Amino acid sequence: MYLTEESSEHHKIIEEASVLFMHDNALNPSVFPSLRRMENEVVAMCLGLLHGPEGSQGCLTTGGTESVLMAVKTWRDFAQAARPNMVACQTVHPAFEKAAHYFGVEIRHAPPAADLACDVQAMAALVDSQTILLVGSAPQYPHGIVDRIEELAEFALRRGIPLHVDACAGGLMLPFVERLGYPVPGWDFRVRGVSSISADIHKYGFAPKGASVVLFREAAVRKLMFFQYSQWPGGLFVSPSMTGSRGGAPIAAAWASLVSLGEEGFLRLLGQAMEAKEYIRKRVEAIADLEIVGRPQGTILAIRAKDPAKLNILAVGDVLESDNGWKIDRQQNPASIHLTCMPAHHKIKEAFSDDLAKAVVKVLADPAAFEKEGSAAMYVFLFCLFLFFVLVFGW
Ligand SMILES: *Cc1c(COP(=O)(O)O)cnc(C)c1O
Repeated sequence: MYLTEESSEHHKIIEEASVLFMHDNALNPSVFPSLRRMENEVVAMCLGLLHGPEGSQGCLTTGGTESVLMAVKTWRDFAQAARPNMVACQTVHPAFEKAAHYFGVEIRHAPPAADLACDVQAMAALVDSQTILLVGSAPQYPHGIVDRIEELAEFALRRGIPLHVDACAGGLMLPFVERLGYPVPGWDFRVRGVSSISADIHKYGFAPKGASVVLFREAAVRKLMFFQYSQWPGGLFVSPSMTGSRGGAPIAAAWASLVSLGEEGFLRLLGQAMEAKEYIRKRVEAIADLEIVGRPQGTILAIRAKDPAKLNILAVGDVLESDNGWKIDRQQNPASIHLTCMPAHHKIKEAFSDDLAKAVVKVLADPAAFEKEGSAAMYVFLFCLFLFFVLVFGW
């Protein structure tokens, strides 16, 4: 549903590939060589897309969270610090809180800069001798803004600390946004100092859930990701990531999605998503009481009230849901509504923008009537409900 008219054909290809491999298990690659080959090819395609240098390597995982978990675990093992900590911006995905919790790594949050991208100086102030990792996002999820990766990487190199770039949302989106001619700041392996990257195939790779990659600049570091145990009566046990047995279907589906769409397919789909985003951005900027949060470079954006005392943006979200049936993700700090533009939104961008304009008029006409709903919505932090407008069953 997220792909416009092409969707049913794309889904058919993916379903066929999934069924072919649904009874296979990627735990033992020598038993199922086709799965191993597809896995290697997906990783190679992603390394190619993100300019992995000679010697870079990666692994397929079941999703962004697992990619993030594996990155944090690997860098923790790499550093062998007594009291390891990692430093990130407040806008970093909660998967890093989870990783911190699971692996005994303290996470330190720096507030973002005024433009909602990370504040490198504020992050630097939290670094000490026990800092094992710096984290940036490309882009961060709440506002679709790419962090100051180049500046962060320079600092990371100077201090000799690894830098992980979380491109779960943008890994397969930003490369095509860039090729389409939109300005994208440096964030991938072309930036010296970027040590590892997480990128989801099951988001803008247009594959079903269960596929992501974690990529390392150096093969020697990726090696630390693997778990192995040799004393088991069952024989030598080796596993790259959190899971043991791994279903073949998501791997085949991820491979089929990338290969069947190809560069040309990605450019077409991301072109549609970017046109939808740019259209909505312009319509929002034409509404006096609204503004875009920061300057999002890709297909994700957030909308807030210029003057929150005058307009309750969360109430605007309520009206869009109750009057028009849109599903709206509300956010806090700052209060905003979140949009993830997919290709399918290209044909409903006008309808959404019209409804948005009407909802603003309605809330402004009687602010008191919406105070209750708006403030009620405020405490609900829907950060992890990946929401979309009507058509999408998104991430
Ligand atoms: C989606 C996302 C994640 C987590 O990925 P899951 O696939 O939901 O586990 C991590 N970081 C960012 C920036 C994301 O958008």
